[in-house]
Amino acid sequence: MVGLAVARKLAQAGREVIVLEEAEAIGTVTSSRNSEVIHAGIYYRAGSWMARMCVAGKHALYRYCAERGIPHKNCGKLIVATSPKETEKLQSIKAHAEANGVLDMQLLSGEAARALEPALACDAALLSPSTGIIDSHAYMLSLRGEAEDAGAAFAFHTPLIRAKAAAGLIEIDAGGEAPMTLQCSLLVNAAGLSATHVARSIDGMPLDRIPPAYLAKGNYFSCNAKAPFSRLIYPVPEPGGLGVHLTLDMAGQARFGPDVEWIETIDYEVDPSRAERFYPAIRKYWPTLPDGALMPSYSGIRPKIVPPAVATQDFLMQGPRDHGVAGLINLFGIESPGLTSSLAIADHVAELAEIESVSRSG
Ligand SMILES: Cc1cc2nc3c(=O)[nH]c(=O)nc-3n(C[C@H](O)[C@H](O)[C@H](O)COP(=O)(O)OP(=O)(O)OC[C@H]3O[C@@H](n4cnc5c(N)ncnc54)[C@H](O)[C@@H]3O)c2cc1C
Repeated sequence: MVGLAVARKLAQAGREVIVLEEAEAIGTVTSSRNSEVIHAGIYYRAGSWMARMCVAGKHALYRYCAERGIPHKNCGKLIVATSPKETEKLQSIKAHAEANGVLDMQLLSGEAARALEPALACDAALLSPSTGIIDSHAYMLSLRGEAEDAGAAFAFHTPLIRAKAAAGLIEIDAGGEAPMTLQCSLLVNAAGLSATHVARSIDGMPLDRIPPAYLAKGNYFSCNAKAPFSRLIYPVPEPGGLGVHLTLDMAGQARFGPDVEWIETIDYEVDPSRAERFYPAIRKYWPTLPDGALMPSYSGIRPKIVPPAVATQDFLMQGPRDHGVAGLINLFGIESPGLTSSLAIADHVAELAEIESVSRSG
């Protein structure tokens, strides 16, 4: 979805755009393996790219969906404290959110939270009214349609195999069923989990500017009982993760997760035994979750560029000024909130591309 948002933006700015996609269709990797949450921008480090892109992207995404009738719901989210220690933390979460420009968070007593969600067990809660959910496939179809309307062409089954930067142009060898060589003045590497691999395939790209790659899988469990909530429910985060939270899809179906499982190779299988850790965590805020209600569902893999010991990462968006290769933009580590941020990331890429054009013509 990030590549699609960028393609749309650049095509609408009048560039001739070709999207090289190694899969058979759009959105078959991380963009169809996420929570489909429009994040408010609460937790990210103040001033980070994630904080700025998430808040700007959220506003842009709500506008985009409303103008085009893309299914989405501004359902809100509750961060629930189930102990006095957690209740103390809510105030600092609110202050952190405000530093990020999320100014609408509301502290609620346990009773006030239960007035909104009667099945909830909690001592207190923080309401995030600007959190929502989106039909991510409808969003991606719309981005693709608008990119094509603006003249972008899509080449499926067409992996970038290698590229070479020379004389101000980038020459790309694309493989697949109809291998070809292309020349372009701008290459945007938005290959998600493969972005570091793609960067290493570009002759001339300095290796010391390419971050390491790690994989952090997030497993989801669906719930065969009807969850009695109309908002997203998150525990107070613990060091290392957001905790086992409940999100809803556009049909109102609840799913729990994603958890964090560091892996060495890409594997989307969900281990059913991981449910054992989900039950006690969920029952802290939903005590009546029935035994046997959780079913292994799906998983997604976060494109990490920092190792497990490092708690947080940021988006790493590099233009020629960062790595010295004319005409190359790399997008690394675009994990959550990448969906929410996608339109803002596209705007930023367009700015980097514009700086590049001006510096060349100057
Ligand atoms: C478990 C999980 C939950 C998440 N939940 C949320 C959420 O609720 N809200 C939110 O805002 N964000 C969320 N995210 C983040 C969001 O899903 C991602 O940031 C976003 O999907 C990244 O999109 P992308 O286009 O960068 O990557 P991808 O969707 O992975 O797309 C990359 C594309 O590049 C193609 N490609 C790769 N290599 C090549 C090559 N050599 N040549 C040609 N094509 C190639 C792939 O086939 C793929 O289509 C979540 C992420 C995960 C993992």
